[in-house]
Amino acid sequence: MKSNKSHNPADRIQDLQFFGEFGGVNPSVSDSATYTFLHAETMLDTFEGKTEGCYLYSRHSHPSGRYLSIALSRMENTEAALVTGSGMGAITSVLLHLLSAGDHIVSSRTVYGGTYAFMKNFLPKLNINTSFVDITKPEKVEEAIRPETRLIYTEVLSNPLLEVADIAALSKIARKHHIPLVVDNTFTPLVFSPANLGADIVIHSLTKFINGMNDMVGGAVCASQDFINDLLNVNDGAAMLLGPVMDSLRAAEVLKNLHTLPVRMKKHSENAHFLAREMEKRGIRVKYPGLASHPQHETFKRLMNPDFGYGGMLTVDLGTFDKAVKFMERLQDNNVGYLAVSLGYFKTLFNAPGKGTSSEIPEEEQVEMGLTDGLVRMSIGLDFNIRRTLDKILKVYDEISSVNA
Ligand SMILES: *Cc1c(COP(=O)(O)O)cnc(C)c1O
Repeated sequence: MKSNKSHNPADRIQDLQFFGEFGGVNPSVSDSATYTFLHAETMLDTFEGKTEGCYLYSRHSHPSGRYLSIALSRMENTEAALVTGSGMGAITSVLLHLLSAGDHIVSSRTVYGGTYAFMKNFLPKLNINTSFVDITKPEKVEEAIRPETRLIYTEVLSNPLLEVADIAALSKIARKHHIPLVVDNTFTPLVFSPANLGADIVIHSLTKFINGMNDMVGGAVCASQDFINDLLNVNDGAAMLLGPVMDSLRAAEVLKNLHTLPVRMKKHSENAHFLAREMEKRGIRVKYPGLASHPQHETFKRLMNPDFGYGGMLTVDLGTFDKAVKFMERLQDNNVGYLAVSLGYFKTLFNAPGKGTSSEIPEEEQVEMGLTDGLVRMSIGLDFNIRRTLDKILKVYDEISSVNA
C-alpha cells in the first residue's frame, strides 16, 4: 500500500476510492467472524502471516477494518494502520507490545488521564516504570532517558493544558537513542502529521474528532507495515492476543464520518479561534494555541499543516472550582453545549479536568503543571452562528464574575 503523493492530508482522504461489492459508493460491510479457505494450505500460510489479502478471523483483521485502516494510514502518511475497539485499546496494545519487565518510558506529564493512570498505576505491576517530564522542554526529555528506556511517549497537543510538543525535536532525540517516538494525535487530526515530523507510531482515539458523532468508541495505530504486522502476529502480537478489535459495523460507520473530517476540523478551529480571540480581548483568561499569548504558539505554527487551523480545543480559567462549576452549568442551561467529558463533537462539550478527566494526577503535580481547579476545558462545536454562541458565553461569564464583585 504505497502512500499517495499529496502531502495535504485532506487530499489524501479525498483521493480514497473504495467500491462496494455491487458497485456501491460505500465499501461492502463484511459482518463475519471467520472466513473460509478454498485450500487448507492457504489457511496455514495466512496463520503464518504469509498471505496478502486473505482473512482468517475477525480478531486478527476484517475487510471493514482494513478499509478504515487504509484510510487512516493515508491520512497520517504511514505505511499501514490498525483499528481498535477504543483509543485505550490502541495505547495499551502499543505499550505492552514494545515493553518488557524492567523497561522504562519517558512520557509527557500532561497526557490523557487514562494513559497517565496506565503508566503510573498499571505498568509498575509489570516492573515497567515511567518518568513523567515537561514535554515542552526537549532537554528534560533527553535527561530522563536511561539505558533501559524503550520509548518516548507524548501527545502533540496535550490534554488538558494544550501544551505543544515539538515532535521534530523529540524525534531527533528518539533517533539518537535508537528508541521509537510514540505520539497520540487525538486532539489534532489533520492539523498535525506527526509521522511527517519524525514520529514512529501515531495513535488516535477515533472516539473524538475523527468519528465526531459521539456514538461509539474506537482507536487506531498508524505505523510501518512491519510494526502493524508485529502487533497482529498470532504468536506474540499484543493487538492479536489482547483482543482490542473494532467491530466491522463500527469500522464501516467511522469510515463514512472520516470523509467529512477535513471540513469539520477546519470549522472546529475557526470557531475556537474566533471565541478565543474575542474572549481574550475582554480580559478572560483563555488559552488557545492560535493566540500569540500561548507559550508554544510559534512551535505550533512551525509544525502545523496549513488549512486546518489551530484545533478545536481551548481552556478558560475561572479562578476557582466553584466558579468553574457555575460557569459550566450556566453554559449548559443556555444550550451553549453539554457538561460532559470527551471532545470533537458537533456540540460544544466542557468539563473541569482538574477534578474530572485528570483526577488520576495527584494534586501537588496538578498545581506544578498549572492544572488549576478553576480550569474549564472546552471542545468547541460546529456552531454555524458562532457570534450568537459568543454572546451567550459572554453573558454567562459576566453573571459568574459579578457574583463576588
Ligand atoms: C479519549 C482519549 C484517549 C482514549 O480514547 P478512548 O477511545 O476513550 O479509549 C486517549 N488519548 C486522548 C488524547 C484522548 O482524548
